[in-house]
Amino acid sequence: MDIGFIGLGEMGAAMVVNILKAGHQVRVWNRSPERAQALADVGARVVATPAEAFAGDAVLSMLADDAALREVVTASLLEHAPRGLIHVNMATVSVALAEELATAHASRGIHYVAAPVMGRPDVAAAGKLTIVAAGPAESIDRVQPIFDAIGQKTWRIGSLPQQANVMKLAANFMLASAVETLGEAATLVAGHGVGMQDFLDVITSGLFPGPVYAGYGKMIAEQRYEPALFKARLGLKDVRLALAAADAVTTPLPIASVVRDSLLEAVAHGDGEKDFAVLGQVAARRAGR
Ligand code: NAP
Repeated sequence: MDIGFIGLGEMGAAMVVNILKAGHQVRVWNRSPERAQALADVGARVVATPAEAFAGDAVLSMLADDAALREVVTASLLEHAPRGLIHVNMATVSVALAEELATAHASRGIHYVAAPVMGRPDVAAAGKLTIVAAGPAESIDRVQPIFDAIGQKTWRIGSLPQQANVMKLAANFMLASAVETLGEAATLVAGHGVGMQDFLDVITSGLFPGPVYAGYGKMIAEQRYEPALFKARLGLKDVRLALAAADAVTTPLPIASVVRDSLLEAVAHGDGEKDFAVLGQVAARRAGR
């Protein structure tokens, strides 16, 4: 397939490599051109404008947040894009923006699919992302070969793109809550002289196996929050989006409010670019350590 790809950050760059490996042609664009140039060495064609990426069979975007998506996907860009093109937005964005973009694309004859992903950049590099897709079924069918190149499984969960976004936000809210409690619990046991690594070995072998407690727990136990795989500021964005989505349907999320404040505290202390696991450091600081 002939694919355009916009947004070559930690996640996007890893995804492009796997799309190329599967034999597709990829035109790449990134705001900071050096990140695009790095992919030219593995076979991507670097283009100078987002409009050049918005062509071919489909364009995938993996930008940071709502603001970035709004800045790049303008009304004029959509106006000039070829009719029938499929835009697959794989970033974690708001439910409200997904609804708005679905309408804006449809009015110009462009298909819009939301396909946010679960898995950190190492999972993206391994081609093992979990993809949660929603939108017109025939559009998802057409881009399924691309999903197969970057993910281990695609879950189709509805015909309205925003349904995929709310599912992703609910999952990240749970992830954030897990990392928050992990940081608090690790600080509790450390306060009584129990080694954090011992604590993690016990909880991950029995009660809480799986990548969340093992992966984030390791970083908390080692107090190693750089290099960031998932930045705290992006985690804060997701919890805020979950709160906004909940607000829209009058659904209280009291735990999300607590985690939002913890992430705000991390950002206020200059740790927004550190990994999300820095919630462990927030808990330790609150305990005077
Ligand atoms: P990242 O490394 O910070 O990359 C962000 C990308 O967005 C970069 O390409 C950046 O361009 C671009 N960007 C930011 N603001 C922009 C603007 N105003 N105009 C144009 N481009 C802009 O983030 P990431 O970790 O790849 O995450 C990307 C998305 O995936 C986010 O929505 C995130 O929540 C989601 N996600 C992340 C993970 C994870 O573990 N990292 C997992 C699942 C989902 P520059 O290079 O020019 O800065």
